[in-house]
Amino acid sequence: MEITEADAARLERRGRRRDAFCYVGVDGILRLRNEGAYCALYDVDKGRCSEYQSRPLGCAIYPVNIDEDGRICLDGTCPQHSTVSAQEADLKGRRLKGLIATIDAEAAKRLRD
Ligand code: SF4
Repeated sequence: MEITEADAARLERRGRRRDAFCYVGVDGILRLRNEGAYCALYDVDKGRCSEYQSRPLGCAIYPVNIDEDGRICLDGTCPQHSTVSAQEADLKGRRLKGLIATIDAEAAKRLRD
């Protein structure tokens, strides 16, 4: 999952160490780190996100996604995808487009600096 500086800062304010939950890829994009098959913030014992209230915006938007043609769509592999209304998908899809622009701008800045 790609995340923003604001996502990372919010989780740091919750006491999380940045390098324990995310990393910067060679493309300059900040991503959640995995531990084995799971996100580093997933509580395997409880079967849920350990930072649900402070989770990255991309996690809150999921399963809404943008397809290769730039259209808003749902990730059909998510068991909850059928619970997302068309109105919610449209709203979250527009937020996702803004989020992607922010992530790309932050990555470009990292690669420049
Ligand atoms: S919802 Fe939580 S556990 Fe799932 S990917 Fe996002 S941060 Fe990780």
